[in-house]
Amino acid sequence: MTATDYDLFVIGGGSGGVRAARIAAGYGAKVGIAESDRFGGTCVIRGCVPKKLLVYASRYGDDFEDARGFGWSVGDTSFDWASLIANKDREIARLERIYEGNLKARGVTTIAARARLEGPGVVALSDATRIKARTILIATGGRPVRYGDIPGAAHIVTSNEIFELPRLPKRIVVCGGGYIAVEFAAIFAGLGVETTLMHRGAKILRGFDEELRDGLMEALAGRGITLRMDTVLEGVAECPGGFNLALRGGETVETELVLSAIGREPATHDLGLETAGVRTGPRGEIIVDAYSETSAPGIYAVGDVTDRINLTPVAIREGHAFADTVFGKKPVKVDHSLVPTAVFTTPELATVGLSEEAARAQGFEIDLYKSRFRPMRNTLSGREERTFMKLVVDAATDRVLGCHVIGPDAAEMVQMAAIALHLGARKADFDATVALHPSAAEEFVTMRDKWVAP
Ligand code: FAD
Ligand code: NDP
Repeated sequence: MTATDYDLFVIGGGSGGVRAARIAAGYGAKVGIAESDRFGGTCVIRGCVPKKLLVYASRYGDDFEDARGFGWSVGDTSFDWASLIANKDREIARLERIYEGNLKARGVTTIAARARLEGPGVVALSDATRIKARTILIATGGRPVRYGDIPGAAHIVTSNEIFELPRLPKRIVVCGGGYIAVEFAAIFAGLGVETTLMHRGAKILRGFDEELRDGLMEALAGRGITLRMDTVLEGVAECPGGFNLALRGGETVETELVLSAIGREPATHDLGLETAGVRTGPRGEIIVDAYSETSAPGIYAVGDVTDRINLTPVAIREGHAFADTVFGKKPVKVDHSLVPTAVFTTPELATVGLSEEAARAQGFEIDLYKSRFRPMRNTLSGREERTFMKLVVDAATDRVLGCHVIGPDAAEMVQMAAIALHLGARKADFDATVALHPSAAEEFVTMRDKWVAP
């Protein structure tokens, strides 16, 4: 074993770890980072980026259909999963090289190994090296929760494997009602796969505004996805051409592939946390203070492993704030309020701020502004799908508390609206803003009438 000294040693080369390493190195720290799989982490390798590429692929069917209304005749179209996956893999490999290259360009030592804490300031690597570091950052992310206790669980794939499927199935059952389940249900449906979304609850996307949940369920059903709510999977058995799913209540359903997306858990297994005195919570998440420091002085944690808000931009913020605080001598706390988020289904859903229900639960007296309309593109295309937009406004101060959209480009709209909410915009500020015409986003500045319950 050799001994190496770093000012900072980062465990995990995903969104949070890479950002922290680069910023700390920029402040002059000697930084090393260990990655047990591929630099870029979940977001780049098997999350946001490949997912969005698949989302784009899944939307071409709409484009071909809609084109006719605009005078185009579209000949035979066909889709080849293998070329999509090969092209996606090439792009992900390019991004991975950029991630590692950027670290090296900043003078960070990158190490391909699994890391484990051995005690305060000591990290053991899977290549039998031992590292000594003044500060350690744990940024190991999360991993899919698997159905552990049902017969045939080994047949179920997760988001980790779905990006590498050798061929597109004809039929799929997606289990779960969160981001990943609904996004993949929409992707597969868009690619022409007979898709069933199976969820234990009565509605998808718990925690989102109720009208968005209802609206998205209606839209997904309208696009031919079979929604099976209040349905519990109890077993999976092989059968010719696929699997037989046993459901609670005795019913069985046949399918070619089962994807589960029933949540993610912090990747804190076998990290030596107890040895180093790092406390964890009930889900295995690392408990940190507002500066991302753990219960062990000198050991910090950022990103999904802390299970605060499990989104890439949040992990990046936390990693950056950690580096500013510890190496830049500028203490920064990450503001976890008003984080915009999108669910990349088709149609897309995006939101920032409080849902109607959360605003009421927090004691606000609220006014609602809503608009439901057929986007202009759908007139000539003949598509019936509606866009839905909603503002939740504090009646006492006129401040806009929440902004919600289902429809094309929802994520792009809400990212911009998030700036206004961040600045504390009032409904009067939205009204005073001149519309950009013709757009869908202009509805946000032209909704004048308070919604009144029918
Ligand atoms: P990660 O990116 O998971 O990085 C952790 C890294 O640590 C991994 O590379 C892992 O290999 C490595 N590691 C783990 N243990 C060790 C060890 N002991 N030693 C060395 N290395 C180790 N977020 C969005 O904002 N928008 C989206 O559209 C979006 N889509 C998603 C789609 C999917 C399918 C999934 C699964 C997630 C998605 N997310 C999305 C969430 C986002 O990917 C995560 O929030 C983000 O990647 C968290 O970053 P992180 O740095 O905390 O962890
Ligand atoms: P989520 O936490 O979003 O959703 C998990 C879903 O699984 C819920 O519907 C939950 O139901 C259900 N569930 C939980 N446990 C079980 C169980 N034992 N049996 C059956 N169903 C169960 O997790 P995801 O896996 O979809 O995604 C993980 C996280 O990754 C997201 O929360 C998000 O932070 C991030 N992400 C972000 C994306 C984006 O920004 N677009 C895209 C993908 C992921 P119930 O509601 O009843 O608890």
